[in-house]
Amino acid sequence: MSNIVIIGAGFGGLTAVKTLRKQGYKDAITLISPRPELFYYPSLIWVPAGLRSQDDLTINLDNFFKRHNVKHIAASVTGLNSEAREIQTNTDATVSFDSLIIASGGRFIKKLPGIEHVYTPCEGYAPTKAYSDRLADMDGGTLAFGFASNPKEPAAMRGGPIFEFLFGIDTLLRKQKRRDKFDLVFFSPAPEPGKRLGAKAVGALLGEMKKYNIRTHLGHKMKGFSENAVHTEGGDIQSDLTMFMPGMTGNPWVQNSGLPLSEGGFIQGDAQCRVPSSKGIYVVGDVGSFPGPDWMPKQAHMADLQAETAAKNILAELKGQAASNEFKTELICIVDTLDKGMLVYRSPQKNRLMPKLRIFNWAKRFFEWNYLRDYR
Ligand SMILES: Cc1cc2nc3c(=O)[nH]c(=O)nc-3n(C[C@H](O)[C@H](O)[C@H](O)COP(=O)(O)OP(=O)(O)OC[C@H]3O[C@@H](n4cnc5c(N)ncnc54)[C@H](O)[C@@H]3O)c2cc1C
Repeated sequence: MSNIVIIGAGFGGLTAVKTLRKQGYKDAITLISPRPELFYYPSLIWVPAGLRSQDDLTINLDNFFKRHNVKHIAASVTGLNSEAREIQTNTDATVSFDSLIIASGGRFIKKLPGIEHVYTPCEGYAPTKAYSDRLADMDGGTLAFGFASNPKEPAAMRGGPIFEFLFGIDTLLRKQKRRDKFDLVFFSPAPEPGKRLGAKAVGALLGEMKKYNIRTHLGHKMKGFSENAVHTEGGDIQSDLTMFMPGMTGNPWVQNSGLPLSEGGFIQGDAQCRVPSSKGIYVVGDVGSFPGPDWMPKQAHMADLQAETAAKNILAELKGQAASNEFKTELICIVDTLDKGMLVYRSPQKNRLMPKLRIFNWAKRFFEWNYLRDYR
């Protein structure tokens, strides 16, 4: 009997479970994560409008694990001994493995001075709800929205959701007939924010900001924050409520993994999702750094594609075959504005932008329902 262990119950970890089963793998699978829950980040953007609650976004996985014969260990991984094939956790339990898929996600770099004054809603429900409650209580003022990347690994950023919060809150304030009481400003150290989506998308996003009277402050290095301001080398932005998404890095335990890390602090993976010089160890999703174009996104969709690849390669190795599956690089993103959406598609061959339409808002809602059906 082989012993496959997965770290993480997010998009990558759970897609790995489904793929192993689809490919006919019959033995029990062990999955380690703090809780038997999937948190569906993409719909956090609808929390300020009251369209999603914590319960809507947190999916209990007990039934899914039962159906797929997954033994769940409720723990946080703290380290790894790849020679001894052992995983250390924050409980007394040490977990041994023959094959391992690491899908433990990323975290945001919180080094800028005054970062405690900003809301980083992409860290989960609590900061998003706290931001939404503050906004609901305000009579007016300046709202600043921005994101930055990891200077050592520029692709490690989460910009898309900030555009969605920005446009969604603009729509929400208009619906509430109080947009005229607020000044909205978007800031980014990048002169062309959203460049990974493609040149047309940058133009379209900045065009939307102009159309909806959203000010921009672009191309200035960040210096920090204070209670009522964003400080940059190009001047300060007065702000009563700031939403900011810092650049990303790997989560803390990877520093104790002994595995090869990228400059930006992620576990290195190759085109087959293997961790170099670490037999039987695979990495997928936000925690990994992979070869590919500089626009390769840190997205749930990429985590899914990589998880399918890793699962298939593990099964090939167990059969004594070569791990020859390579993941496809693809960016699919609906930039939602609460009542409409703009679709961006990018692959090495194509880069398409579909204009803002109501149907893409419906498509995003349908996708959420359909995606989560498997886990309910
Ligand atoms: C607001 C928002 C909107 C987004 N919108 C989209 C979108 O529209 N489309 C899209 O494709 N992507 C979107 N994303 C990005 C997407 O959510 C991430 O890329 C995706 O969650 C990455 O999946 P993952 O499996 O790598 O990591 P995660 O989903 O972060 O899962 C990591 C898992 O590992 C667990 N874990 C963490 N540390 C440990 C540890 N030490 N030990 C054990 N387990 C651990 C966590 O509890 C979790 O279960 C959005 C993100 C945000 C925040």
